[in-house]
Amino acid sequence: MPQPDDLSTYQATPDLLKGKNILVTGAGAGIGRAAALSFAQHGATVILLGKTESHLSEVYDAIEANGDPQPAIVPFDLATTDESAYEDIALQLQNNLGGLHGVLHNAGILGELKPLEQYDGKTFADVLNVNLLSNFLLTKALMPSLKAAENASIIFTSSSVGRQGRAYWGAYAVAKFGIEGLMQIWADELESTSSIRVNSLNPCGTSTAMRRQAYPAESPSSTPQPEAIMGAYLFLMGDESIHINGQQLDARTR
Ligand code: NDP
Repeated sequence: MPQPDDLSTYQATPDLLKGKNILVTGAGAGIGRAAALSFAQHGATVILLGKTESHLSEVYDAIEANGDPQPAIVPFDLATTDESAYEDIALQLQNNLGGLHGVLHNAGILGELKPLEQYDGKTFADVLNVNLLSNFLLTKALMPSLKAAENASIIFTSSSVGRQGRAYWGAYAVAKFGIEGLMQIWADELESTSSIRVNSLNPCGTSTAMRRQAYPAESPSSTPQPEAIMGAYLFLMGDESIHINGQQLDARTR
């Protein structure tokens, strides 16, 4: 099937992700929550990683109530810079699940929206740790599990401000630029040595808590709900995107 022009319109078969183990970061809220529920609905065993355990438990219960494959919960603070903590999680997953067929790096924080001249250095570092460093450390730690699965897919979450710099987006935009670089390097390094594909996805404006924080005066109904863009996430996790590697993609046409 050819790649749809608007990825959000992709129609997934009900069992698209059957038998796949997929880890979603920031699975407790917003886009990550919708992706976790959608992956599970399409047959995946989803590993729910996030900071707030009660949010993860709510998603866990919703997946169980839908009768979808039983998920796993991994409460973890992605502000962690200790590499061994990532290795511990990866080992735990490898022992319990074996191969990992997909990772959606989705968790993120906004930081401050202000001129760089006024940007607080500690906040800058915190945003880079959560939005960029954690993506590197987690991917590196999970690599043995990803290599053990056939045709694994890694999705890094980008943003419009990670592709074209924009005033006042500070560390958030810098981290997203870093995400694009990280994606391209992983994609190039893995291309000839493994069946792992690596792409970046810009969800585009989506009605979530982060969007409300960034645009407090905007009507929440002026951007789509996370559920409306899941076609893109399903397409990139499913085997119909096996040939796509190193691409910067948008979840919907803007
Ligand atoms: P939300 O703020 O709604 O959700 C963010 C999620 O990230 C939450 O589940 C949160 O966990 C988790 N998270 C935040 N900090 C940490 C941490 N230190 N450790 C672990 N988990 C953490 O954001 P969105 O759903 O809007 O955003 C998802 C992704 O999409 C982000 O990468 C964002 O940059 C990107 N994006 C969003 C756009 C939009 O319009 N919404 C546009 C462009 C990009 P918890 O449940 O514990 O709070």
